[in-house]
Amino acid sequence: MRVNKPEDFYKNVSEALAQPDLKMIIRRTTDKAETKRAEAVANFPEFENARTQGQKVKDHTIKYMDHYLAEFEKNALAQGTIVHWASTGEEASKIVLDICRQHKAKKVTRSKSMLGEEIGLTHAFDNSEMERIETDLAEHIIQLAGDPPSHIVWPAMHRSREDVVKLFREFHADPTYSEEITDLVRSARRDLRNKFLTSDIGISGSNFLLADSGSSCTVTNEGNAELTITPPKVHIVTAGIEKLVPSMAHAVPLLRLLTRSATGAEITQYNTFHNGPKRPNDADGPEECHIVLVDNGRTKMLAEGMEAMLRCIRCGACMNHCVVYKHIGGHAYGSVYPGPMGSVLTPHLDSLEVANKQTHACTMNGRCEEVCPVNIPLPTLLRSLRAQSWDKKYEPLTNRFVVQSFAIMAKRPKLFQLLSSSGVIFMKVFSRKGWIKYMPFTSGWTRNRDLIEPESTTFMHQYKKIKNEKMKKAKKGGA
Ligand code: SF4
Repeated sequence: MRVNKPEDFYKNVSEALAQPDLKMIIRRTTDKAETKRAEAVANFPEFENARTQGQKVKDHTIKYMDHYLAEFEKNALAQGTIVHWASTGEEASKIVLDICRQHKAKKVTRSKSMLGEEIGLTHAFDNSEMERIETDLAEHIIQLAGDPPSHIVWPAMHRSREDVVKLFREFHADPTYSEEITDLVRSARRDLRNKFLTSDIGISGSNFLLADSGSSCTVTNEGNAELTITPPKVHIVTAGIEKLVPSMAHAVPLLRLLTRSATGAEITQYNTFHNGPKRPNDADGPEECHIVLVDNGRTKMLAEGMEAMLRCIRCGACMNHCVVYKHIGGHAYGSVYPGPMGSVLTPHLDSLEVANKQTHACTMNGRCEEVCPVNIPLPTLLRSLRAQSWDKKYEPLTNRFVVQSFAIMAKRPKLFQLLSSSGVIFMKVFSRKGWIKYMPFTSGWTRNRDLIEPESTTFMHQYKKIKNEKMKKAKKGGA
């Protein structure tokens, strides 16, 4: 599996832009998601109210996190669930693998969980003696392809239908020879069915953790989480501590926001609340349940004033509406979480030193904040990370030189006007038919796209001209 690194962001972006069909494939999904979300919001007049309510629920739970974590643990233990605490991703991954080894597991089924990716569980299983089976259809596709996910809701969105046909023909024991989506889904079902039934351990993530009952909630469209959890004897949940809400009543507005923002659906097909191991009279279900509560940088975010980011319910709307994501896709970010939310999260989960370039990729158009169902001020958080990056001197010297020179110039209007007039003349030398394909010092831009020819005069010249003309007219009118 080839995994890009966040510190190679510019190289990753160049590679993504050089892929001829990538932008078209990404837009096919993100544009549809935009339309579906807009329709869902238009058909849900209480959307803004739900948004405010959702934000309040998250802010309240984050504020009293210690209280709700203790309540969740007490109630989960009462249900018979074994609770584990992990302060880092590595620790969480080790806890999961240790449980699997204690049970001498050979086969492990997993339903989609971005936290699993975050804590390196995929990699840990692939380096172990156990077989990892991804059961979400998109995760199944990328497992066969050996790809990391490129979107938090549609992890295989970078793969075309033709790619999926080829993969299924290569890897499925009884593949379909049709290219119809329903036949492809049936092919995946045939491949996965027996694996569900023979799995030793089922691992899931969690969309919400309910403090008052100690339950965890999963939301899926395929029912694969239920099949992952029910047949094996052991169920392990991995969940970030920010998934907590006080009760079911508090989870409901968030569920309504999540589905509409993610896929435009009013509700997902399967909303399941897991309440520990099966009881004596239950027909099925796991005999043993574990939950691993993961911090991995979350309390640090709280301490550093980034608590608003802990509201995130992982709907993916911010990336679907991001002009940068739509051009480069998820892999270019080099981290588990791409797009605007990833550009804020990765510096905390990894480090600002390696992931500061992503914070500069934002155009600050504000669309991500506009569509975020829990009102996360993503541009403000990104701006704050940029400021921290500047203070810590993470920017390359050339960038610092350019910004500092601009600051000197911007404070001196005459110098600014002189240099911008000369800049226009300089740019026109390289212009052909209204576009600049190459110009010294701008290769970072012109390598992948042309630069538009500037207007003949600067803004200040045009402004003065219009102002003078207005004054002349006013004088004439007065006379
Ligand atoms: S930041 Fe907001 S829009 Fe983006 S994934 Fe999180 S909740 Fe959704």
